[in-house]
Amino acid sequence: MVVITVIFIVKKFPAMSTKQKKCLTCQRILKGRMDKKFCDDYCRSAFNNKKYMAERGLIRQVNHLLLKNRRILETFLEGSHSTVTIMRKTLSARGFQFDFFTHTYFTADGKKYVCCYDHAYSELFNEELLITRMTSKTESLFIPYNECERG
Ligand SMILES: [Zn+2]
Repeated sequence: MVVITVIFIVKKFPAMSTKQKKCLTCQRILKGRMDKKFCDDYCRSAFNNKKYMAERGLIRQVNHLLLKNRRILETFLEGSHSTVTIMRKTLSARGFQFDFFTHTYFTADGKKYVCCYDHAYSELFNEELLITRMTSKTESLFIPYNECERG
């Protein structure tokens, strides 16, 4: 009779000897299977929604910064100018963030363009930047969609 009771206790509380796991959403101690992460479907979806919203928030922030950088470059090219030379600090003063760009482009002679979509700048000398539109150059950069799939 005593033996049966001991077996019953071990089976009912298998987690007692190890560290107790808590629900990732509400922090309540989990009962049942050891690989459980949540108490129920509500806590599972609350956790996944929060994670999704955090990811969406980051993507939205980066997209906003890229579009803002593009708009700043665009303002220097208003009118018929296809290129313009400005000081680096002028771009900073407008709120341009140099860490955010979509891609880089190198000309045949090795000149580097840092792009925000179809607008770009290139470093000249003495903190000067050349700002330009990349329309025809950027189009040739893109690999057709079905070729990406094969690669
Ligand atoms: Zn929970």
